[in-house]
Amino acid sequence: MKYLLKAERVLGGRKGEVIKNGAVLVDGESIMSVGSADVVGAHIDPNVKVIDFGERTLMPGMIDCHVHLGFDGSADPVTRMKKSTDEQLLVLMLYNARLLLRSGVTTAREMGARSFLDLVVKEAIEEGTAVGPNLLVSNRPITSTGGHCWFMGCECDDTVAVKRAVRDHVKAGADFIKIMHTGGFMTKGSAPWYNQFDRKELETATYESHRLDKKIAVHAHGAVGIKDAVDVGVDTIEHCSWVTSSGYDYSEEAAEKIVEKGIHICLTTNVGWGRMSGQWLEERLQNISRMKALGMKFIAGTDAGINLVPHDKYVGGLEALRMVGLSNEEIIESATIVAAEACGIDQTVGTLAPGMRADIIAVDGDPLSNISDLWNVDWVMRAGTVPDFAQL
Ligand SMILES: [Zn+2]
Repeated sequence: MKYLLKAERVLGGRKGEVIKNGAVLVDGESIMSVGSADVVGAHIDPNVKVIDFGERTLMPGMIDCHVHLGFDGSADPVTRMKKSTDEQLLVLMLYNARLLLRSGVTTAREMGARSFLDLVVKEAIEEGTAVGPNLLVSNRPITSTGGHCWFMGCECDDTVAVKRAVRDHVKAGADFIKIMHTGGFMTKGSAPWYNQFDRKELETATYESHRLDKKIAVHAHGAVGIKDAVDVGVDTIEHCSWVTSSGYDYSEEAAEKIVEKGIHICLTTNVGWGRMSGQWLEERLQNISRMKALGMKFIAGTDAGINLVPHDKYVGGLEALRMVGLSNEEIIESATIVAAEACGIDQTVGTLAPGMRADIIAVDGDPLSNISDLWNVDWVMRAGTVPDFAQL
């Protein structure tokens, strides 16, 4: 199918690129050309379907770099997951994938699921038997016995077990590796400020991932764990909250190394941040503004599925990035091109340009002026097809 998509405003995705009265020509799964409507639409053949979006904005589909399709976003997603059979979990994951896509998320990094179900969902979306974003999957997160998200089924306690887990996941088809280097807030008995692995174990996981040409995403809340992740040279750090048992321990020296090494940070801001307040939040925001001042690269990711963060609230995470001092332009980049770079997929997605995959959204409004306009995504194209959301 060929489409000519026209709109008053087309955001190409490259810094500051705004095309007034622009158009995008799509053929099959790919973008053929992008530019002013007069030029792109000049000599199109008669079987091209023309859609004029009028005053709306066309832009690249957005990327959520941190989702859990198997959590339901309720007040207690862990209990639900533990009670669910794999079959029940799969149904939930397919449903959540639809919610993400409808919100304008055309690519998502699945940060940990049970029983390799993320591979099933990914394949179903790719072959068209399910509706959802393009997925990058990590299979089961590597954790310690009884550690954060142990119930997803990959407990490892020494370098041999860690090495084996990375190899098993890559063999099964993982796009990247996820390791829980520190504890987390959602798992009883797992303290976010303590490491679950020693540095050697994290180094082994990182080495094995890179040897197999995969990126590694490291869950790290505690300051000690963050420093390890920086030193061993991981690709993305998730959360990066610098917490201790009693507060924070932000390290400017470690933060400078993050920038130097080009490690991307996923703060996992989400709709929940709008509900937080007080000293704890203030200090967290202060630390983030210091990180930003150093030139740190932030990528959008919401931890969708965790407590009270359902999969249709992606934009709440972008609004929270305003709280940490990003401009609207920077937020859009963190949700598109910068996220694509961090995931190593910027040759395929994240911008509207010839040869890129046709992942395109239409927004009723102008997100460059008002980031909250992104709540009004009312048309989504993924890989050249336009899903019908009437069933949701
Ligand atoms: Zn997570």
